Amino acid sequence: MRLAGHAHLGVTFLGLICFAELAIANELTTAFDAINSSDIKIHIDTLADDSFEGREAGTRGGHAAGHYLAQQLERYGLKPAGERGSYYQQFRGNCRNILGMLEGTDPDRKHETIVVGAHYDHVGYGSRKNSLGPIGYIHNGADDNASGVAGVLEVIEGFLALGQPPRRSVLFAFWDGEEQGLWGSKHWAAEPTVPIDRVVMKINADMIGHLRGNQVTIYGTRSSRGLRRLVSQCNTSTDLTLDFTWELKANSDHYSFFDREIPVLMLHTGLNEFYHRPIDDAHRINHDGSQSVARLLFAITHELANQDDLPAFRPSARSERPEHLVELERPAPPRPPRLGVTLATNGSESREIVLSHVYPGLPADRAGLKPGDVLLSFAGQPMSTIESLLAQVVRTESPATVVVRRENEGQLETVELAVPLDGKPLRLGISWREDGAEPGTVVLCEVVANSAAGLAGLQVADRVYQVGGYGFANGDEFRDTVNGWTGPMELLVERQGRLKTVTIDLPSPQM
Ligand SMILES: [Zn+2]
Repeated sequence: MRLAGHAHLGVTFLGLICFAELAIANELTTAFDAINSSDIKIHIDTLADDSFEGREAGTRGGHAAGHYLAQQLERYGLKPAGERGSYYQQFRGNCRNILGMLEGTDPDRKHETIVVGAHYDHVGYGSRKNSLGPIGYIHNGADDNASGVAGVLEVIEGFLALGQPPRRSVLFAFWDGEEQGLWGSKHWAAEPTVPIDRVVMKINADMIGHLRGNQVTIYGTRSSRGLRRLVSQCNTSTDLTLDFTWELKANSDHYSFFDREIPVLMLHTGLNEFYHRPIDDAHRINHDGSQSVARLLFAITHELANQDDLPAFRPSARSERPEHLVELERPAPPRPPRLGVTLATNGSESREIVLSHVYPGLPADRAGLKPGDVLLSFAGQPMSTIESLLAQVVRTESPATVVVRRENEGQLETVELAVPLDGKPLRLGISWREDGAEPGTVVLCEVVANSAAGLAGLQVADRVYQVGGYGFANGDEFRDTVNGWTGPMELLVERQGRLKTVTIDLPSPQM
């Protein structure tokens, strides 16, 4: 996960790297075993029980929930990271953040702190201001946000299962007063119990209880460089479908940190019909879904807490909007057809390929091809399938010699035509744009139908991270690599946070 592309390294070093990757994979497996839906169920059933009366900040129920969390941190043996050696940070009278530290082991990096948190408060009996109704009934907030709290508690279990703390320190934070307007996280950011300049990343989980269609929304990847790629690599084991929205607003506690120019990530399974209603109850939670999201949360935290260097905050994230993502992924305008025909097969035994339509004014028409012509060869290649012909049309240098059989005054005749094809031949058949927040990545904005890339299943908006196991610094390096490539080419591709290797049968370069 931490080491992209290594085919060019020495064998012994290769052995070392593969060993390291294996070690990471084993670590993840060990941790994942400790992150399970049955524990998640226990935490959610507890926090979303009527006895906590909807955990409104500063109330008896809120306090009881805070106490429960402090007990968990003590049980896990985390170092108190609240005030005066306790797990608590009191504010606004009766509100309390709950904080515990897992100290890092690397002398050079343990001062750097990753904050992993979730708000534990909810809206109590509900009010006109914070409930979608009916009000006056306990809103147990099983999804919002007992599920996020349970996920963060399981991340702690994951680290404990490893035995060895990570290189950087991890501060686990349970925020109070989020429903009132991010009170707890804002208070902590203003009066941090750990110097805020030591905080290198904030990861937040809010509403991870209703995973549907395997889809998780990831907020914040624009707040630093390479975060989308990192999260996608961490998703290898969980294989969730990730929506990397460019939307970033003050709708949960990650924002209190974003506001202070700290890179952030937030995991969320989406709003739903239970949101801020008394029916947001524990028995409706998708525990297995929460388990997967909690494991992704762990993998991300584990990676950030152990990788050598962390990218800095990216100020331009402040001005980016979802429409900018649409712009980046906007498909390139379609290319004009190179030939301009519609193909069909005739009823003959050999299912010959026939020009069923020749579009006026396009290359085939201009060269004299006619509807009904039976294609015998194209650019010196005998006919096989319509698909292979379409692929040939995409990559053939112009002009192409076309041989057809046609009927002329009752006589069958064979005609050979030189057809000047429109547009350039395409060996691969893609165009791309670059994403300033994701160095070493190209974002496909065009995949030409029937091109080598199209036949391999690439799609617009796919992101390419590697060619033949090699990373690349930028689009130019990518271009040079693919242009010089011969033989089958393996691309590491990311689509909605899922990585896959796509093999492209590249035609040999035209001499
Ligand atoms: Zn919430």
